[in-house]
Amino acid sequence: MTENFTGSFTQQEPIPEDAIEAALAVLRHGRLHRYNVAEGELGETALLEQEFAAQMGAKYCLAVASGGYAMATSLRAVGVQPGDAVLTNAFTLAPVPGAIASVGGKPVFVGVTEDLTIDLDDLEAKLPLARVLMLSHMRGHLCDMDRLMQMCDAAGVVVIEDCAHTMGAAWRGQASGRQGAIGCYSCQTYKHVNSGEGGLLVTDDEDLAAKATMLSGSYMLYERHLAAPDPEVFERVKYTTPNVSGRMDNLRAAILRPQLRDLDRQVERWNERYVEIETGLRGTPGLSVVERPEAETYVGSSIQFLLLDWAPEQIAEVIRRCAARGVELKWFGGAEPAGFTSRYDSWRYAESAPMPASDRVLASIMDMRVPLTFSLEDCQLIARIIRAEVGAVFQS
Ligand SMILES: *Cc1c(COP(=O)(O)O)cnc(C)c1O
Repeated sequence: MTENFTGSFTQQEPIPEDAIEAALAVLRHGRLHRYNVAEGELGETALLEQEFAAQMGAKYCLAVASGGYAMATSLRAVGVQPGDAVLTNAFTLAPVPGAIASVGGKPVFVGVTEDLTIDLDDLEAKLPLARVLMLSHMRGHLCDMDRLMQMCDAAGVVVIEDCAHTMGAAWRGQASGRQGAIGCYSCQTYKHVNSGEGGLLVTDDEDLAAKATMLSGSYMLYERHLAAPDPEVFERVKYTTPNVSGRMDNLRAAILRPQLRDLDRQVERWNERYVEIETGLRGTPGLSVVERPEAETYVGSSIQFLLLDWAPEQIAEVIRRCAARGVELKWFGGAEPAGFTSRYDSWRYAESAPMPASDRVLASIMDMRVPLTFSLEDCQLIARIIRAEVGAVFQS
């Protein structure tokens, strides 16, 4: 009998009851705008910022409308001007080059290794081309952050981290997003906490924090923030920083606060699932699992494996056969982007030279979400299906 999987790869868990209660309280009083607070009241958004800053060990935090907005705001805050080159990953998702393009910047793509991290040799060669790196920890894979920061610091390149897939992850025990000048997170439904849409950024730099806050649309109400720099810092930037509204609201913040308190537990649950799948896949002929560095604490909310140097028709056959058994694999090597699988040469508004070594890796990447609605048995079944179908095609 062939086993099939019947679960949904896009179904996240419901919003926890305490978050629903907190949301209802906001709806009942009606003060959804972050600056609409009663006398003496600390709004949900300001509290969220205070708590997230503490959780990440950061001095400052700003909550905004989306992860993409957090990245664009960071680029503006560090002073990227129209026409400026910004280094970024060739392997990432569309909002990353999109954030660079939104401020008129020109993405300069840096290659990807078989570890699915940024190619540090390629980065080293390209560092002289730009003064900012938008580093995307794509699918939660952290590169050697010690070497990266050493190189960027030496070259005077400012690092902004896209932590859409590393909220809850760490490098040598330090939260992901705390190595660079600014860390950006997404609270969108498919990430590690779910407010539908939403973003957070953290930094220890008071000028960047004040600029980002002004940019997000704080009018002159920045004193209502609990994780922002002192008013004197705002005095320096308040007349020269434009308002590009993109605030977080109290309803989303109310939903997020209980979820963030639960983040470590959720990370454990993701990793239990990840390990089941990885263990089931390891040793499959023709398939490479992605080894994780010892210094990395990861969040297994998705899993990748490589079918290196396979013919495209064979990969398409694996995808077809897995799909027929209910297992949805995404492929970054398809001729056309499907869903979220676009890559550097899909973003035609940004010039790029061909990167053959990266193309070889991109052509081999199979990607799968691991929602927490999957049981451990589901994960074992999924691994068995992939193993069988990869094996069947590999032998043919
Ligand atoms: C989701 C995502 C973002 C942007 O987040 P939004 O909240 O959707 O704007 C940025 N980078 C990566 C890699 C993402 O997956």
